[in-house]
Amino acid sequence: MAETRSTCPYCGVGCGVIIESDGTQISGVRGDPLHPANFGRLCSKGSTLHLTAAAPVTLRQRLLHPLRRPERGAAPQRLGWNEALSEAVDAFEGVIRRHGPDAVGFYLSGQLLTEDYYVFNKLAKGLVGTNNVDTNSRLCMSSAVAGYKATLGADAPPACYEDLAHARTLFIAGSNTAWAHPILMRRIEDAKRANPALRLIVVDPRRTETAALADLHLALQPGTDVALFHGLLHQMLWEGFTDNAYIAAHTSGFEALRSRVREFTLRETARITGLREADIVTAAKWFAGLDSGDGRRAPTLSLYCQGLNQSRNGTAKNAALINLHLACGQIGQPGAGPFSLTGQPNAMGGREVGGLSNLLSAHRDLANPAHRAEVARLWGVDDVPAQPGRTAVEMFEAAADGEIKALWIACTNPAQSLPDQATVRRALQRAEFVVVQEAFRDTATAAFADLLLPAASWGEKEGTVTNSERRISRVRAAVPAPGEARTDFSIATEFAQRLEARLRPGKPSLFPYAGPEAAWLEHRESTRGRDLDITGLSWAMLEGQGPQQWPLPEGATEGRQRLYEDGVFPTADGKAKFADLAYEPVAEPRDGRFPFSLNTGRLRDQWHGMSRTGVLGRLFGHVPEAAVELHPQEMARLKLAEGELVHVTSRRGSIVLPAVASEAVPLTQAFIPMHWGSEFVSGRSSRGEPLAGVNVLTSPTFCPISKQPELKHAAVKLLKAELP
Ligand code: SF4
Repeated sequence: MAETRSTCPYCGVGCGVIIESDGTQISGVRGDPLHPANFGRLCSKGSTLHLTAAAPVTLRQRLLHPLRRPERGAAPQRLGWNEALSEAVDAFEGVIRRHGPDAVGFYLSGQLLTEDYYVFNKLAKGLVGTNNVDTNSRLCMSSAVAGYKATLGADAPPACYEDLAHARTLFIAGSNTAWAHPILMRRIEDAKRANPALRLIVVDPRRTETAALADLHLALQPGTDVALFHGLLHQMLWEGFTDNAYIAAHTSGFEALRSRVREFTLRETARITGLREADIVTAAKWFAGLDSGDGRRAPTLSLYCQGLNQSRNGTAKNAALINLHLACGQIGQPGAGPFSLTGQPNAMGGREVGGLSNLLSAHRDLANPAHRAEVARLWGVDDVPAQPGRTAVEMFEAAADGEIKALWIACTNPAQSLPDQATVRRALQRAEFVVVQEAFRDTATAAFADLLLPAASWGEKEGTVTNSERRISRVRAAVPAPGEARTDFSIATEFAQRLEARLRPGKPSLFPYAGPEAAWLEHRESTRGRDLDITGLSWAMLEGQGPQQWPLPEGATEGRQRLYEDGVFPTADGKAKFADLAYEPVAEPRDGRFPFSLNTGRLRDQWHGMSRTGVLGRLFGHVPEAAVELHPQEMARLKLAEGELVHVTSRRGSIVLPAVASEAVPLTQAFIPMHWGSEFVSGRSSRGEPLAGVNVLTSPTFCPISKQPELKHAAVKLLKAELP
């Protein structure tokens, strides 16, 4: 029996796992006691990885051979890899030559490893000459990226997991940590046991399992977070809680923000957010940390996730929270700082290699000509195009409009996960050629593929991922991929090599990689001198010393745990910037026609579209089926008994679900989990097209800065379904 150290593929906590196998079949998994993210613990999803990976049912659902659909709607036919990649190259080259490079798009995933991401990004921006490369991480953390850059000058979470043990106040905003990041919640419970004075503020419209543990639950009206954070700053200024010496020495732009928050009086903030004035006062006092009476400021750590990010006001929400940390000097010391949590296992690695349409390698900006020139020089190409690429929602809107004609979709399921499914379906139908690179055969998106390429899954591939605390961990293969499936790295690299033979014949290859480590070394070199410099790191070091945090520049013996301890920020003047951004209410406020606020989110035991977790019966023990959760009083008002079917309708479509009563959901609100797709949740678009899943309802409106869509809010109505 062999043991292989690797990393859990489910969430951004990035827990270490030890895979047990006989070299052909995975038989067990346990937490890695040496991994600093989890110290041996695993949650319900992580501890059943071996069952989901090895279950016979999973194998039946795996995509084992390349498949080609001779025409749309026809049954796919098997073909060999050589033929499959030739067809893909023919199709992409043809579109590029006929319509230009911006007629193709690559839509990637936070499930990809850093090296996979690196190759795809270079393929699109360096070889094809388009910035149309984006990722499902756009749905997850692009507002966090924009928030950090707008305030701290770089996309770098400054805190670390160990800060949980040093904090006096934890401020959790828009995160049901107990379900979405369970091992982090165990660490919070540990911290609370060790330090009973630790107090928890949770900002969330719902009384989630996390909110139920809070010392102060701020159940604000959906989408009003910026008003709350501006109101807290107003209150801190009123009470004299701000750290004026820190503001003067280490920040800029405070006066403009001071003017902005003047209108967010206690009364006005309470009116907008629906919170009690006394609770806002308490939150401001606890956050500032000056209430112990000894004159010392106690540290506050903020944890935040999709409730802030998935919003048309997402960047402002992130930045307004970071403003509070800067105003109180709550950053750069043990137990203090803003700390965004990444949803996916490698959303952070994708950011590092610039795997978004507006970014370049090593946190460089596409909009910066000097950065484009640096990356072109590193890659050995003439230039990187300046034209901004399409972000996730924009990419599918462009395909629906006929502007993008060839789509390459890797390890993600946009026909379930993107908002406004009617538009996404039209995009997939209208595109001339759709490649879907996937481990699983039956995803909603696979049904639209002209070419299906079988990809290796967890436990079958090599590379690295980076978790929420900037820690790079190795992912290792314990068993070979089934059938003819290949790693994402080798699929991307071979396609790139074949395409470059057509687009730049006779020139040295841009993709001369013997394996993932070679691509990683190229990425490492691109970080030299940047905020995430890892030139002192090697795979041998990851092997010998275990996972490491960045930055880790040449000469350093270990990664840096915490950033900005010296009060110097990666901005032109070395100072952090207060972001003066306006509060904008949700894009679709409730009204007489659509009187409910719909919220969507994750369950404890399921992952994304359930292609992995949905194969295991025990993971349905927690929540067995899709349902819309409503407050009991709303159930009574709508004359709904528990489990009765209800039409949930937004401006974009309608789905039918059982209704269940939940005291956790406030009046006038509804909650639907995001996991169930076409097999379980049927519905129709507003034009009558048959559609499925909660994203029939959700809005494509996105934050103008981060381009992250407002998946956390749509106005809906509910109508009891009459049985025929
Ligand atoms: Fe995996 Fe996240 Fe659970 Fe850790 S907390 S075991 S990374 S799903």
